Amino acid sequence: MNILILGSGGREHAFAWKIAQSPLCDKLFVAPGNAGTESLATNVPLSITDFPAIRQFCLDNKIGLLLVGPEEPLVKGIVDYFRLHPVEGMPVIGPSQFGAQLEGSKAFAKAFMERHQIPTAAYREFDADNFDDGIAYIRNHSLPIVLKADGLAAGKGVLILNDRQEAEKEFGEMIKQSKFGDASKKVVIEEFLSGIELSVFVLTDGKHYVLLPEAKDYKRIGEGDTGLNTGGMGAVSPVPFADAGFMKKVVDQVVVPTVDGLKKEKIDYRGFIFVGLIMVNNDPYVIEYNCRMGDPETEVVMPRLANDLVELLVATGNEQLDQVTVSQDPRVACTVMAVSGGYPGDYEKGKAITGLELPVPVDSIVFHAGTSSKDGNTVTSGGRVLCVTSYGENIPEALGKSRKVLDQLNFEGMNYRRDIGFEFLKP
Ligand code: ATP
Repeated sequence: MNILILGSGGREHAFAWKIAQSPLCDKLFVAPGNAGTESLATNVPLSITDFPAIRQFCLDNKIGLLLVGPEEPLVKGIVDYFRLHPVEGMPVIGPSQFGAQLEGSKAFAKAFMERHQIPTAAYREFDADNFDDGIAYIRNHSLPIVLKADGLAAGKGVLILNDRQEAEKEFGEMIKQSKFGDASKKVVIEEFLSGIELSVFVLTDGKHYVLLPEAKDYKRIGEGDTGLNTGGMGAVSPVPFADAGFMKKVVDQVVVPTVDGLKKEKIDYRGFIFVGLIMVNNDPYVIEYNCRMGDPETEVVMPRLANDLVELLVATGNEQLDQVTVSQDPRVACTVMAVSGGYPGDYEKGKAITGLELPVPVDSIVFHAGTSSKDGNTVTSGGRVLCVTSYGENIPEALGKSRKVLDQLNFEGMNYRRDIGFEFLKP
């Protein structure tokens, strides 16, 4: 079967790495891809939101499976487009536009959780029509208070504030001055939860589901989780505190009600559900849903998934996930992201990356994120440039191996965190 992956990040390189190992995959294409996917697949210069062009490519190249990496095409309705203009025998892995609101609208996600009694922070939603109620709500709210732009805001739409006056000001800017554009026309105000976060990944065919390995990502630029938020500086899997007892609560209280809720509400959803959780007093609460896999979490989840991913995705398309059992590689995986100097602020692109030709130990993998090929060289083309995932018996060992490989790679301004998994590094 020929397969097309949409996207160009580390997540898509990790998907390509996994899919290229499947005997079910004949030709593999990635659109637009990066310099890493080029070594495993054919990169195709398509825009990920040009649905007619993607469809034409699928027809011309007899694509049998379309895997959508990032949220943007999903939130813009790629699945609905292919329902209206199907390519015979080709499932599209991802939710419908309506289902993608689990990520695209925080108010939608919160109301969905409320309807299905899924544990999450107490909340209310406000817009220009009930603005004054929002101000009153803030004045009576405990601190810290969490303000969330309803729509997608590239990871910047969540504010955690310790001062009610500041919260009122930000709330006003979000709703009245469109601080985050249309995304903040509506604002969710919610209770602050204090705990430790992890991410759980579900693949559903709309009727059944399987659970993939869980992961924990590290968002801050600085070591010890300090400094500005980024797209993600690294991740580990499994998560040491996610023991069988806790994971049973996650399944019973979150995963099953979520999948059943989608089913009950007849929401067309055949794809990944990324559940961002926080553990409070050993109980799980949902912080957010995403309608696709995470990046860099995919770079540890795919290496730890022992199944053939193509088999899983075909079963998803055929609503046969009940016939699949997921097995996990028992080893720990740790990925460390190398980023451009200045990121997550301004940074330069086009820096030559050296060391990519050097041998890498069998239990380490270099995944490309923001890279491209230029005149036969690999150069940086984004803030997050590449990440190294390594297997180990434990997190310190896996981290140590990734750092060793990163030591032999270089580009001007390269920066990475040396402490991914830091809470778990000491015995
Ligand atoms: P965007 O929509 O702008 O891309 P996002 O989807 O990343 O943002 P969330 O995941 O909802 O937004 O929140 C971002 C981070 O803020 C979370 O990972 C968590 O650390 C923190 N956070 C969000 N909600 C809460 C809460 N209720 N209590 C404590 N921390 C929270």
